[in-house]
Amino acid sequence: MSTRSQPKPCQHCSQAVHIRYGIQFEATGRWWLVCPTCWDPLSRNNPFCRYGGTWKAGG
Ligand SMILES: [Zn+2]
Repeated sequence: MSTRSQPKPCQHCSQAVHIRYGIQFEATGRWWLVCPTCWDPLSRNNPFCRYGGTWKAGG
């Protein structure tokens, strides 16, 4: 059995990735799906950052 999955765009940098993290990093409480590359600097020293889980593309 093979698992086909289409990469989905990071909502921050638009790069197509297979794994995105659901995070908040603003006072607005908006949820973003971002790639691991974006998550790192966005979450660092950010009092608004909340981690909401990992989304895998496809499935
Ligand atoms: Zn990104």
